[in-house]
Amino acid sequence: MPRGIWYSCAGRALARAAPFMPTGIVPHSGPRPFDLERVRADFPILTRLVRGKRLVYLDTAASAQKPARVLDAVDRFYREHNANVHRGVYTLSEEATRLYEGARVRVQRFLGARDPREIVFLRGTTEALNLAAFCLSTRWKPDDEIVVSALEHHSNLVPWQLAAERTGARIRVIPLNADHSLDLDAFDRLLNERTQVVAVSHVSNALGCVAPLREISERAHAVGALVVVDGAQAAPHLPIRVAELGCDMYAFSGHKCYGPTGIGVLYGRLELMQSLPPYQGGGEMIRSVSFERSTYADPPHRFEAGTPDISGAVGLGEAIDYLESWDRDSARAYERALLEYAIERLSTVDGVRVLAGGEEPAAVLSCVLKGIHPHDAATILDQDGIAVRAGHHCAQPLMELLGVPATLRMSLGLYSGRDDVDAFVVGLRKVREWLG
Ligand code: PLP
Repeated sequence: MPRGIWYSCAGRALARAAPFMPTGIVPHSGPRPFDLERVRADFPILTRLVRGKRLVYLDTAASAQKPARVLDAVDRFYREHNANVHRGVYTLSEEATRLYEGARVRVQRFLGARDPREIVFLRGTTEALNLAAFCLSTRWKPDDEIVVSALEHHSNLVPWQLAAERTGARIRVIPLNADHSLDLDAFDRLLNERTQVVAVSHVSNALGCVAPLREISERAHAVGALVVVDGAQAAPHLPIRVAELGCDMYAFSGHKCYGPTGIGVLYGRLELMQSLPPYQGGGEMIRSVSFERSTYADPPHRFEAGTPDISGAVGLGEAIDYLESWDRDSARAYERALLEYAIERLSTVDGVRVLAGGEEPAAVLSCVLKGIHPHDAATILDQDGIAVRAGHHCAQPLMELLGVPATLRMSLGLYSGRDDVDAFVVGLRKVREWLG
């Protein structure tokens, strides 16, 4: 027995949870064909009025609304199972652990990961990308290079900048083609033996462009670089198979996938995660602690210091089951048709310019209105219960590149319909009348 205090809660955690894990997964009876009216009936908030009008929620890219079964799962957790995970030998703690680890297995399945140990629960995409940048940068040398794209959300730029400042590495940026897709020829020219990481968003939150991840991964791996993906806007809309995409890490947020806020995921290839140092120190992430030093638990617990967001993970597991309860191909086809409808309808409004989002954008549409600030437009739209986002969408460098201070962005969820798009278009006409 080594000197010091032996304290190994995380080490016991998976072992204790393991026998319970399979029963933590509630099987569902195959995906249903997409049905808008049935989807809408699942979301209690959609029945409320805003300023006396039907809620037209077109800001799902910022945060999705929650189906009743997610709300119920979180409520049930606190009413019936609440206890801390991994530590207790009593019934409630074992139930909570089973539910928490069961959610991890659901996420593993959702992403097509090989092993639940590849799934780390964190606060959201932002924290996941901070973890990635912090842990990966421990290996960088001055003059190493990190490649990001011009489309990135600040969450997939600032953490890399912080890590670059600490290590002397440099950030390089993939420019865009005229339709705002990534310029892959320029990307090729950026890659070299100093490239450590390529960090790109799967779907751009500002323009909806979908990145060709497989190609990006192949080219990055050819020079020995790792590929880290910001999947915040992709996970709710596209089927994700991390192995097929070829990425090394993939981050997404629960609240954009119809789950609770405060919970998110970092997928990391097991061998990679096993080779990384911890991100934060504290309980649960250690194997042993003495006054002099500590040794660390294996992934995923090495990266989950402290009490995790247990109810959040339970809610996220339920949200994933909900998403997967609909046939995702038909849901995706529906969303694409609705986006095309929106592009067509918006082009009928005087002075509106839709900003292209690559060839097949996903669920996000940005536009600018001649002579009208997007904030003013969004404020007027709110008078009619229409929720859209105006601003730089945490993508200031992209706005600079586009030559606009901000855009007006509508984004779709499973519950969005033509009536929402029509209300938006009518609202924009009103904005033009008032301000144009
Ligand atoms: N990346 C993208 C592309 C996003 O759209 C967002 C949020 O809008 C984030 C990262 C950050 O997500 P979160 O705030 O949930 O951490």
